[in-house]
Amino acid sequence: MDEVVRPVGTTRAVFQFEAADELILSLKPDTDLVHSITEFASGKGIEAGSLVVIGALKSAKLGYYDQKKNRYREIKVDSPTEIASCTGNISIRSGEPFAHIHVVLADTNGNTKAGHLLEGIVFVAEVHLRVLQGPRLERRYDVPSGLWLWSER
Ligand code: ZN
Repeated sequence: MDEVVRPVGTTRAVFQFEAADELILSLKPDTDLVHSITEFASGKGIEAGSLVVIGALKSAKLGYYDQKKNRYREIKVDSPTEIASCTGNISIRSGEPFAHIHVVLADTNGNTKAGHLLEGIVFVAEVHLRVLQGPRLERRYDVPSGLWLWSER
């Protein structure tokens, strides 16, 4: 199996993986969701994966990427919320496993705030982590966007 597939059309890069493990994690309260998943991946040597999470957060910090200024604007969520949806991936950035996570959080009225998860203090978090096996999936700094993106060498 070719692990790196030639990009076609509008794709920047294409990588081919196989699912290695399906892990279910339950996180301890008062931990940071992003840090916990990153630390778990580091400890288990997981360099590529995808994840979904449901549960509830005590508080959170979300990022909104300003595409003109090329930087994140921070959105603070100071009250408890439901994790209505949370999805992400794991790859390598600067030689270390890096978790990129987005979230939709619902408040007491069901109103939502959403964005790039910078920090999420856990009340309950049920994580389904799919560990992927294949080529080295590495992020490199992309000057036009100001973001660390997947690219082929
Ligand atoms: Zn993001």
